[in-house]
Formats: sequence, structure tokens, C-alpha cells
Amino acid sequence: MEMYERYIRQIVLRGFGLEGQEKLRKTIVCVLGLGGLGSIVSLYLAGMGVGRLRIVDSDIVEEVNLHRQILYDMDDLGKPKAYAAMDKLHRLNPEVEVEALVCHVDEQTIDRVIDGVDIVLDGLDNFETRRIVNRACFRYSIPYVYASVIETYGSIAVFKPGESGCFECIFRGVSDEDLPRCERVGVLPAAVGVIASIEVVEAIKLILGWSPNLVGKMAFIDLYSLTFNVFDISRNPECSVCGRGVT
Ligand SMILES: [Zn+2]
Repeated sequence: MEMYERYIRQIVLRGFGLEGQEKLRKTIVCVLGLGGLGSIVSLYLAGMGVGRLRIVDSDIVEEVNLHRQILYDMDDLGKPKAYAAMDKLHRLNPEVEVEALVCHVDEQTIDRVIDGVDIVLDGLDNFETRRIVNRACFRYSIPYVYASVIETYGSIAVFKPGESGCFECIFRGVSDEDLPRCERVGVLPAAVGVIASIEVVEAIKLILGWSPNLVGKMAFIDLYSLTFNVFDISRNPECSVCGRGVT
């Protein structure tokens, strides 16, 4: 019990227990993208004592990141985000094994990036990469917790191979050119915090065997108007990733 002292405030949660802590310790989570979402997601998961975190990003830390990317500080400017993050997460919780990949996620790298992980969490900033991730997660039957945020709003969904539709079912045909960019329209830091926190909670439910609420559903949250909506998302039977149209 002593070894779990640092986790006692979550172990006493109803339905969590030592059993839940053990499940966390045995889980390998991949966080793709270490920007605003990835910062918060990886901090919470490391703090909670997930067994291994594989964190992936090809960027370096810039001053313009610091208003929302709470993994980093002024001392990290110019460092690869994955290495700065690994350092910070290790100082937060040395019991967590952190594997940092300074790597661009694309068709060539995705198999290696998600090899052997139990769950993939989205901290990405574009649909093209999410499409690649979604396809690979379905190929290897790895649950993919999708999240995205811009301006004051964002969305979250859990794509679970065999149980739900997938990213492609919903966003077929949507390209990055159709979407607003953070560089132009901005993003509210605390809005990122809300979306990322829900993303983590859904991931924890998956890990603990609680029922995630966003399998087959998508939450859409706007902090400007403080509106929370959850929609059913139906599986597209002709989907090229999870349906009959598999290519
Ligand atoms: Zn699909």
C-alpha cells in the first residue's frame, strides 16, 4: 500500500481502488502531439501513475506556445517539445516510464509510433494526421480518443474499433483547408483545459473498464456561450476505414 501513497486521493474514489491503480500501472498510453491538449493530457496521466507514456511531437518549444502549453516554461524555449515534456513529466512522477519520440506522424511512421500501445490520445492540430492515426488505430484495434480545440470551442469522441464508428465516418471529405487555423483565429487556453480534461477522463474510463460516455457519441463544447452538447454519431456502413468500404 505504501508504494501507492501518492495516489491515495484517487484510489479512494468510488469504483477506483487498488485494482484501478494496478490497471493504470499496466497501461501504455500514446499521446500524439504535445501542444495545448497534449500538455494537459500527459501531465494528468503521468500524475495519476499510468505505466508508460509514449509522447510524440516533432516541434520545438516557442514563446508563442507558452500561454496554453503548460508543460513548458521559459527554460524550454528552443528545445524539442518531446524532450522538454519528458523531463517535466519525469520530475512530476519518476515512477512513470516516459518514452519521447521527436517524430513527425505520417504514413511512414505511424505503425512504429503506436506499436504496442493500449490507447491513443489526440493532441494533434490537423485532420490529415488524424486520418492517418484513425486508420492505423482501426487496423491494430487500438482505441483512439479524439479531441480538437480552436478559438473557444472543441470536441471529443472515443473511437473504439469493433464498438463504434470512426473519425472517417464523421469527417469524410473534410480537409484542413476547410477548417480555421489556430494561427489565424486563436485559441483560449482554458478552453483547451476543459477539452483536454474530458479527453483524459474518457481515457481513464477506458483503462479502468468504466463505460466511456463518448463511444459512438461526440461532445461539442463552447466555452464562450458555456454550452455542452453530446450528439450520437452513427457509423457509416460504407466507411473506408471501419465499414464495408474498407480499402
Ligand atoms: Zn468509419
